[in-house]
Parts: sequence; structure tokens; C-alpha cells
Amino acid sequence: MTAKTYLFNCLSDNFGVLVHDPASGATAAIDAPEAAPVEAALKASGWRLSDILVTHHHSDHTAGIAELKARHRCRVSVPRAEAARIPTADAGVAEGDVVALGKLQARVLDTPGHTSGHVSYWFEADKLAFVGDTLFSIGCGRVIEGTAEMMWASLVKLRDLPADTLCYCGHEYTEANIRFARTIEPDNRALAARAAEVTALRAAGKPTIPVTIGAEREANPFLRADVASVAAGIGMAGRSPAHVFAEIRERKNRS
Ligand code: ZN
Ligand code: FE
Repeated sequence: MTAKTYLFNCLSDNFGVLVHDPASGATAAIDAPEAAPVEAALKASGWRLSDILVTHHHSDHTAGIAELKARHRCRVSVPRAEAARIPTADAGVAEGDVVALGKLQARVLDTPGHTSGHVSYWFEADKLAFVGDTLFSIGCGRVIEGTAEMMWASLVKLRDLPADTLCYCGHEYTEANIRFARTIEPDNRALAARAAEVTALRAAGKPTIPVTIGAEREANPFLRADVASVAAGIGMAGRSPAHVFAEIRERKNRS
């Protein structure tokens, strides 16, 4: 494992993160909610920005790109399906593509649902995944442009990554997500353990990510729509996972 990461806060509840290849000096910002915190992170880390890897077109993930690109002349990779909506793009990427960051390699995964072209970046050898607004810790993004089926398939794709993959998401929503998750699975012990961990992290003023895919698999109700006890617990025994997922997402929207 050679990649280094630097996590920081942006806007009111967005995460920014830098990924760095010590061998080449290449450094990527995953999304760019705003320029100033990215600049501060570059200064603190001593790294030079070479790339921006964009997960989706929403402004809270792209508003800082133009300023950063003007200053650093970095290469901006965006979801190919959303390139027209991100005017600062240099390259469009989609499932099957591999983005090189110096000696590091990120596999592009299509993870649509929150937006129609949303992608995630999986640094397989480094056991890192940057999942934007598809998967949150103990939650998931709102299904804005896609369907529940589409979002469920995207979440299953992320759930199927190796359990020790460290997952970085786009927002610090974990506490609220846990309050909601406990209404779906009040007896889930992994969820209770995660709740205790998150309470301690927040009390210490620390971020609640990264988190492993394996931990999310056990505790995140949005990844558990195909678990029989979850479906039964919300009165949907025997329904398809996508339907169960849609119901959980609806309840969260109303919560
Ligand atoms: Zn978004
Ligand atoms: Fe967002």
C-alpha cells in the first residue's frame, strides 16, 4: 500500500480528500467542493495538485474545479455521461476505465442513481474507494436522477468490494444516518457498535470516515435490503431487494 490520503472538511458538511503517490508526486483531489480548503490541504500536506477526479456533477462537488485548474493546470477527469454538465472537464471516464495517478491506478466504477452518471474511483491495490454521494457511512445518497433499482445495483457493486477496502464518501452525515438506521434495525449489534464509535469520534471533533466496506456491510441498512430480517422488520418479507431498498430510502426521505 503506497497511496497516502489527506482528509479535510469543505462547505458545511462535505468532505474533501487528496490522494497522493509518493513515488511520482502525483496528487488527486477527489471532487472539489470549493477551492480554498483544497489549497489549504495542499499547503498542509506539501503535495502538488496534478488531478481532480470527479464523482458527479453536483455543484457541491465541482464548484472549486475552475479555480484549482487555473492555478495548478491539473487534469480534470469526470464521469463521461456528465461531461457536458461539467464544463471544466478534460477527460470523461466510465466503468472499465483505469485512471493513472502516477504509479497508482484507480478503476472507474459506474455507480448511478444519485445522478445518472455518478462514478466511484477504486484504487484496488491500495484498498481505497472514493464513492461520492452513492454510499455514505450508514446511509446512501438520495435517488435523484436514477431509479431505486439502479441505486440498489450501485450499492451492491460497492458492497462487493473487498471487505478491507477503506471507503471515503462525500458528506459527514453519519450521526443522522445512524439515528435513522436504528429505526430500521434496532437490534443490529454492528450498528450499535458503529454508533458508539461515531459518538466518540464526533465528541473528539474527528471525522467518521474512512470506514471499511466490511463494517458498512454489517451495519448500513441501505446495503442490507436483501437480508430477510431487514425486509421482515419493515413489513416487506418476500419482496425484492430493490423494493425493500426503495422503501427504506423513502422512509429516510420522510424522516
Ligand atoms: Zn450530490
Ligand atoms: Fe453532495
